[in-house]
Amino acid sequence: MKRKEVPNATTGSSNQPAKKPRTSTKAKGKQKQEPQVIWPEYFQDLLKVFKALNTVLAFVSSRKHLATTFPVVRKSVEGLLKRPLELSKVAELKALLPDLVKFAYIPRNELRIHAETASQVQRSGRKSPDFSLNSQGSSSSQLPGMEEDEHVLVLEFAENVKGKEKQPGLGLSLPPAMSPSQTKKLIENRDNRFTCAVNELLSATPAGDDAARLLQAAARDHIPVNPKAKGLIPTQVEDSKASDKTIIPGPEERPSVDEVIREIEEQEWYKNQIVDRRTIQAREARQGTLDEPLSESIQQALRNSRKISSLYLHQAAAINAISNKKHVIVSTSTASGKSVIYQVPLLRLLEEDPSATAIFVYPTKALAQDQRTALEQLLWSCPGLHHIKVANYDGDTPQEQIRESASVIFTNFDMIHASILPHEDLWRTFLGNLKLLAVDELHYYANLFGSHIAQVIRRFRRVCAAVGNPQTTFVSCSATIAKPSQHMKRIFGVEEVDEITEDGAPSGIKDYLVWDPPFVDDQAPQLGRHSSLSEATGLMRFLMKRGIRVILFCKIRKACELAMKTLRTELSAEGRLDILAKVMPYRGGYSQEDRRRIENEAFSGNLLGIVATNALELGVDIGVLDAVIMLGFPFGIANFRQQAGRAGRRARDSLAILVADGLPIDQHYVNYPDDLYNRPMEELIVDLDSKVIIEGHLQCAAQEMPLSKDDHIYFGPLLAELCDTKLTKDQDGWYHTHPKFLPYPAKHVSIRGIEEEKYSLVDITKVGEKNEVPKILEEVEISRALFEVYEGGVFMHQGLTFIVKEVSHDTKMARLVRADVNWITSPRDFTNVDAKQTYRIKAIPNSPHMVFFGGVDIVTVVYGFYKIRNKKILDVVDIDTPPWERHGSGFWLDVPKSILDLMRSKGFRPAEAIHSACHAWMNYFALATELRTECKAAEKEYKISETKRKRPARLIFYEGSGKSGSSAQGFDHASEILRKAHNAVESCPCAEGCVNCIHSPGCREENKVSSKIGALIILRGLLNLEINPDSIPDQVDEATGFDTIIEADYIRPVDGVKVESP
Ligand SMILES: [Zn+2]
Ligand SMILES: [Zn+2]
Repeated sequence: MKRKEVPNATTGSSNQPAKKPRTSTKAKGKQKQEPQVIWPEYFQDLLKVFKALNTVLAFVSSRKHLATTFPVVRKSVEGLLKRPLELSKVAELKALLPDLVKFAYIPRNELRIHAETASQVQRSGRKSPDFSLNSQGSSSSQLPGMEEDEHVLVLEFAENVKGKEKQPGLGLSLPPAMSPSQTKKLIENRDNRFTCAVNELLSATPAGDDAARLLQAAARDHIPVNPKAKGLIPTQVEDSKASDKTIIPGPEERPSVDEVIREIEEQEWYKNQIVDRRTIQAREARQGTLDEPLSESIQQALRNSRKISSLYLHQAAAINAISNKKHVIVSTSTASGKSVIYQVPLLRLLEEDPSATAIFVYPTKALAQDQRTALEQLLWSCPGLHHIKVANYDGDTPQEQIRESASVIFTNFDMIHASILPHEDLWRTFLGNLKLLAVDELHYYANLFGSHIAQVIRRFRRVCAAVGNPQTTFVSCSATIAKPSQHMKRIFGVEEVDEITEDGAPSGIKDYLVWDPPFVDDQAPQLGRHSSLSEATGLMRFLMKRGIRVILFCKIRKACELAMKTLRTELSAEGRLDILAKVMPYRGGYSQEDRRRIENEAFSGNLLGIVATNALELGVDIGVLDAVIMLGFPFGIANFRQQAGRAGRRARDSLAILVADGLPIDQHYVNYPDDLYNRPMEELIVDLDSKVIIEGHLQCAAQEMPLSKDDHIYFGPLLAELCDTKLTKDQDGWYHTHPKFLPYPAKHVSIRGIEEEKYSLVDITKVGEKNEVPKILEEVEISRALFEVYEGGVFMHQGLTFIVKEVSHDTKMARLVRADVNWITSPRDFTNVDAKQTYRIKAIPNSPHMVFFGGVDIVTVVYGFYKIRNKKILDVVDIDTPPWERHGSGFWLDVPKSILDLMRSKGFRPAEAIHSACHAWMNYFALATELRTECKAAEKEYKISETKRKRPARLIFYEGSGKSGSSAQGFDHASEILRKAHNAVESCPCAEGCVNCIHSPGCREENKVSSKIGALIILRGLLNLEINPDSIPDQVDEATGFDTIIEADYIRPVDGVKVESP
């Protein structure tokens, strides 16, 4: 490697070749070592800082009782230097001499050990300047106003001065007492160590790189993080200068988005990251009129309780439609006043008929509770409707009371499915009077869950009709989605729906930015780009400092935790604990209590920043935000628009930034930003033809009241067949629940998929201290736990790092301890999916090959992990965890031997081709999110030694969660999707694969093992399309490794299985 030329100090001539500096082993001598090369100014300055620090610390440690907290040391160092000592400077020293400099937060009670010793020593009469924490001179160990588990920042030098006794832990060991000459020697030794370290760094810095910059970058990882600075807890401002830095502007004083963008463009770090900017102009409010004016008392209630004196266009249109007994869906922006759309018609209905009832459905309990309070206030302000009772029906309140007294209930579909419908006899009066069923956030009900909800609503409509009420009006609201009325029709099973999408609410001016992280080095693009994470958190800090309230959306929990960790580090480094105290992470997996607390903080406007997964996409009301940053393109165009919609309020400007990842899909939008705004949104998927789902709900429906074949008007054409084959028929021709589902069929039908077992993660950091008990940090589903909780791994919780000490797979419990580490870990794993038994076989049209459906065994093994810092692998660790085995259903297509031979003769790696062909197929299957395939990992495929794990040449797909019937669907449509995938790969203009052909955003192994031509050969082979071997280029393979694929064995079908014709 080329070394940086360091000018030789003795000659002072830069033409001389660089002398190799002494290594630290040689420097153990006693002579004083001066810089032997001319150091850049930065390092000469760093030496001054080090010397000052060295002097202060040596003096302090010669007084054995004194604990060296950073604020105290800093004061003395600043006295010597005559200038401020920044936290980041110390971190740079720590990065340079990681073993010598100890710089970290420790619990205050550990510090007290020093203080107690100190008071004893002081009584013995020794006088010394007091560097201890408690500089007021109090000898008491109890510090007033200090919390028990508060942490303090300690700065010390730690080395084994004499002998080899180990430092048991930071701040715990008492430094040995020393004579003045010993102290002097100590100072010299440490100065030498510093000099050597700088010389080493300079000589090891590659040409073209700046050693100072490298050190500063490395220092970022050494900024200590206060484990107690969880955001909400007001943090003691340790940086004396922070308080008089800048005050964060309030919401009204913040600069405009336009000003901020211009300011960004003037920053030194701005390198044309903004590749696209568009401004959506502000929109005036548009009022609508009601066909029939509201009664005086309703008008009064709206004025008094909501300050509403007129209605927006979409509100009026929806209320008019509901008055005409039409089913309605309103699909407009966030915060366009949708709740009025349910509330006003309800008030009208109650005025007309005091015995009218209504059900309001929300996806979460929290939302339902907020909305109930809002409606209560409105009723309270409405003369004549004071007495109307409203209740949450979520399992927490006694049922009987609610049924008898409430006119309106706020609930969710889980309750309707498992509690209301099975007890329809108790609910007859309520359901008989039901005038309105309102379902908020209708876009939430899609995919597997939505497919179940569609059947629950069919059961509900059938029961209502049976109690003599076929007239209920259905109204729903959703975020902006594709084809809203189509979605509502499918979910509710109704023919006519009024669709309202014209948004009459005012909105402020909104800027959209597409932000592409810059190259690390413009001259060397092969080094890649800066990480999207650091760009996004950098932007977030920049905005928050200007009083702009930001939400940062991350795609997965781990990214959410990493972003929070980065923010902690960076804000601590800048001394902006005032901002750090106003940032919170929010994601699934936190306890209900934590989530509720964060929502309240956010809603009350106490937060400046939220780092969230899309758990927050759901209408949790978090109040007003000014900016949205998306870390990576979210899962689809609809998600992009919904997330962007979280920022902005009436009459104020707002900002949405997409920070692009390196993934192909992100880079697509960097190159074609128009697509973000013009591409149609993905249609929501509701599967109305899944026999598995329908059968489950028929078993439930038959218990609610026996079924007849006339019920196909609710459940569709599959009803007859399912009744005959799955239910029990009585003499009169009625169908009843099959006995194996009794007595509670709803318990057999899990509408949210199978509930997974969970691992409890227990924080044992403080166990052993008095009054400390283990605390459960969170509970993690087994499918995640396997990849996130393994011994020696780093687990992140609210941006803090924990080390997993022990995992018990029997008790499903893991013990973790808090540890500030500057690396993360990433699991090394593989999953084998093996076909076990064939239940169905289908021929592929015009092809001799078949598709098979049957039982599969799935085995996942986590065999180790990587330690990673700044995307660099520090260490590769092997671990031994039991395999996770489960059974499921799936379907598969075997790669013909002739195709395998052809690929091998041309130098293809069959594993690459198979992996890519699988993803190509899944890219064209609508329910692909419910399916998995066996992803191929680069570490396994390109291993230098030959692996024993040989995999069959097979495209295999299985159900990832529960029994949704998606694999049966996939099997039914396998051939046509094969053809679509083939056409897409063949016609895709990309060179080596992209998200439109063979790459999948859901790939567990980042699509690293892939081959576009290989995939095409397999797809053509299966479809029996002609392949001209001469037209296939020979593959020149650079990577080493062995073939990991063997020919697939035929999986024996169960008795009586015949090949179905296509
Ligand atoms: Zn492509
Ligand atoms: Zn994959």
